[in-house]
Amino acid sequence: MSDNLFALVRERIADPAKLFIETSDGRRFTYGDMLALSAQLAHALKGRGVQVGDRVAVQVEKSAEAIMLYLACLRVGAIYLPLNTAYTLAELEYFIGDAEPRVVVASPKNGPAIGELAGRLGVAATETLGTAGDGSLMDLARGQPTDFDDVPRAKDDLAAILYTSGTTGRSKGAMLTHWNLTSNALTLVDYWRFTADDVLLHALPIFHTHGLFVATNTILMANASMLFLPKLDADEIMRLLPRATCMMGVPTFYVRLLQEPRLNREATAHIRLFVSGSAPLLADTHRAWSERTGHAILERYGMTETNMSTSNPYDGDRVPGTVGFPLPGVELRVVNPETGEKLPDGDVGMIEVKGPNVFKGYWRMPEKTAAEFRPDGFFITGDLGKVDERGYVHIVGRGKDLVITGGYNVYPKEVETEIDSIPGVVESAVIGVPHPDFGEGVTAVVVVPKGSALTEKDVLGRLEGRLAKFKQPKRVIMADDLPRNTMGKVQKNILRDQYKDLYK
Ligand code: ATP
Ligand code: MG
Repeated sequence: MSDNLFALVRERIADPAKLFIETSDGRRFTYGDMLALSAQLAHALKGRGVQVGDRVAVQVEKSAEAIMLYLACLRVGAIYLPLNTAYTLAELEYFIGDAEPRVVVASPKNGPAIGELAGRLGVAATETLGTAGDGSLMDLARGQPTDFDDVPRAKDDLAAILYTSGTTGRSKGAMLTHWNLTSNALTLVDYWRFTADDVLLHALPIFHTHGLFVATNTILMANASMLFLPKLDADEIMRLLPRATCMMGVPTFYVRLLQEPRLNREATAHIRLFVSGSAPLLADTHRAWSERTGHAILERYGMTETNMSTSNPYDGDRVPGTVGFPLPGVELRVVNPETGEKLPDGDVGMIEVKGPNVFKGYWRMPEKTAAEFRPDGFFITGDLGKVDERGYVHIVGRGKDLVITGGYNVYPKEVETEIDSIPGVVESAVIGVPHPDFGEGVTAVVVVPKGSALTEKDVLGRLEGRLAKFKQPKRVIMADDLPRNTMGKVQKNILRDQYKDLYK
């Protein structure tokens, strides 16, 4: 019996005529189409010399064919390696040089430039894949047999390498095994009650764990369907909500949709589940969504390295500002970051997880891998948090964002929560920047609507008496927005860099 993720996908297909993906330009791919197309692409990859264990690096616009290519890699026993479409040629040089893929697949418009780069880096072949079934890879695939002998894989064999988002530094390649992906998908199908009747509104990118694994693998395992949008488009989402049963989004989706006057109970009546993750969902957004739609967003927590680790419950309280409970099979603990000692519930510390979801290590970074695992197998997530008396996990922020001022630890989230509760504040980011007296100075970047009269002095005045003196910002900077990456993550490293001379 093979433990190839694809073997289970195949086994679970009850009806080949069932819709798998429908794109926004109206192209429909059934499960039968998926089997045929992924087989043809598997033959095309083999024709290009791809062998078991080879990396296939892919930087293409979102399409159904790109998902078929992912599945083709699984079938060949190759390692799928998707790359953020925002990466420039200079950035690709690092990723391609690091991953040493056998084949690179680029979008048709980038084909020549990426082909030249890949050739220089010693990659055997570059092919292209467009969003309308076009590209040289599709030309190779057409005419190939529509069945393929899937390569058997063991649980521990690599299925994919996904680079982390690069929020805190240079992206690292996380090596994910067939069992990492399979076990997590099966858990999520169960926990979130996915069935073949589900239709997922899919507007996420597919180079990231959220859109690729959480969404797509879960749908595949449930033999359900997806409506594919190239990206977040509020009009399109409003139009498709009546056809969907669930949506997965990053917090910015929900913030953006709340600005839609048409968003109400009726518009969301057909939906059974809204999921949020990849970045913290403000408790305010959670509440506003409940009031407008009657749906409590289900927030979950995961990372590229760990797949999904915690989730709010399907039944029971989905508590705003928390990420719920460890998923079945996942062990989670909060420890003192220095000593590794387990902390009592309620104390803030480093979150560590262990389970079949946790990756095999960082690609070609044995020292980094060793440094991020404890001897008993727990992975050190880098996220700070706590477990409350009801067992809900709270994420307080990233270890790297902790501010140490005058010897005291300040958790940015605590300060941000106070600032966000000031009337007229949209959101805020608290960072530490070098300070001659305190080491780091607590610094707040506060977003207010254009034309707002709220000043630095007002914000500081409001915090007086609400936060201990050492937690109060030394400076408050008013801004129009916060720098975010494609997954809606606030890029505090950019802010720290921007304001590094503030106290000099
Ligand atoms: P890098 O590791 O390269 O700095 P990254 O950590 O942002 O980038 P991802 O793996 O995409 O890359 O993101 C995982 C991180 O996203 C988690 O470690 C956590 O900080 C954050 N995250 C994910 N879901 C949530 C959530 N529901 N609430 C708060 N933070 C979340
Ligand atoms: Mg990370």
